[in-house]
Amino acid sequence: MVEIYCKGQIEMTVTATQETLNPYEIAQQQVDAAAALLNLPQHITEVLKRPMRVLTVNFPVKMDNGTVRVFEGYRAQHNDAIGPTKGGIRFHPEVTMDEVKALSMWMSFKCGVVGLPYGGGKGGVICNPREHSKGELERISRGFMEAIASIVGPGKDIPAPDVYTNAQTMAWMMDTYSKLSGQNQPGVITGKPLILGGSKGRNEATAQGCVYTVLAALADAGIKPSEATVAVQGFGNAGRIAARLLAAEGAKIVAVSDSKGGVYNAQGLDVAKLEELKDNASIQDYGTELISNEQLLELDVTVLIPAALENVITSKNANHVKARIIAEAANGPTTPEADRILTEKGILVIPDVLANAGGVTVSYFEWVQNLANYYWSEQEVLEKLEVNMINSYKAVRDLAKEYNVNLRKAAYMIAMKRISAAMEARGWV
Ligand code: NAD
Repeated sequence: MVEIYCKGQIEMTVTATQETLNPYEIAQQQVDAAAALLNLPQHITEVLKRPMRVLTVNFPVKMDNGTVRVFEGYRAQHNDAIGPTKGGIRFHPEVTMDEVKALSMWMSFKCGVVGLPYGGGKGGVICNPREHSKGELERISRGFMEAIASIVGPGKDIPAPDVYTNAQTMAWMMDTYSKLSGQNQPGVITGKPLILGGSKGRNEATAQGCVYTVLAALADAGIKPSEATVAVQGFGNAGRIAARLLAAEGAKIVAVSDSKGGVYNAQGLDVAKLEELKDNASIQDYGTELISNEQLLELDVTVLIPAALENVITSKNANHVKARIIAEAANGPTTPEADRILTEKGILVIPDVLANAGGVTVSYFEWVQNLANYYWSEQEVLEKLEVNMINSYKAVRDLAKEYNVNLRKAAYMIAMKRISAAMEARGWV
């Protein structure tokens, strides 16, 4: 009998008519499912279903017009049994504590599945970066870092960029933390500019890691990259670089989209031209058939890469998805109910915790380089990334076969087994 002392126990029933979209509930359902397969004792499952620490901060920031605004932010640390926690900080008007908690759990599982010596963390500040000047964004970044400084650090919790934060945000935060601690502390945060200890290869890392897993899955299916057709939803850091790299492998990119909609051409799209349009005009000006984001998800392609938002494949459209392989470059694009449908349909889903783990893997390399104060070439970074991604993919694939489960469950099983073993070895559980 396990007693849990916490407020607001969450109802986690999924019915055919009501699909759960709360990310924290989804993450908890995923833990339950993998824990059942692993036969984990209930007390361990209960620990894994919650972050060990969530800090709420409210901090004042001087606005350009002389007024002062108070911003609310959160930092969640899921589990540090394996090592310090790690995960991004997002600036977004819709940041919620539940979202940050769920994302910290997914970071634990992401780090676990690719074998990094980290647990998961995540942070967010409720703000709309589009409304703020550079100076205000700098003061928000520094204010948030000051507010969370007591719980982060190179050996405690290492943030990184996320939605609407970037290398500049990380530079301000690293500088604030360094000033507070009286010494240069590049290892407190990753995703920094190269001049401040960023890693070569970080910009391409997420897409590159995703592409390594796609190539491995295609090889398993006996499909040559040159025989594959690909649709990519989202044409930002993850999506456009994945399209570029897969095209370089010989795959035919037949559709891409961004927030304004998509373009489709069965004969293949020129990714370089799309990138130029994205930077200078709009991908919709390509001069080919226009499709909606919903239509893109239902195209008959070999590989579908959701690389934009959460919850885009749901119980409503999963039955219409025709791709053979889905590589989740985005975090949480598939709801649990949709995941069940896709598995029944025999579609191979490379789950987010594996497919987009290239980003955090190179963040880990950045931290290692910062701690050693010794910096690697891009080739060295990419070689190490490839080895790690391919080995992780194979471990997930093999466990999935052994237990006759989908790759997502297998990925969670691998990660949860590692975290449980670390907690047991420490004598926590
Ligand atoms: P980004 O901001 O660079 O790009 C996002 C893209 O999605 C843009 O092209 C935008 O136009 C498009 N988009 C926005 N709303 C859309 C909509 N309704 N329909 C279709 N497209 C839409 O972001 P990113 O860094 O590429 O991240 C994309 C996803 O990948 C997110 O889920 C993120 O969490 C995940 N991810 C990114 C990284 C990384 O290192 N960049 C790492 C891990 C996971």
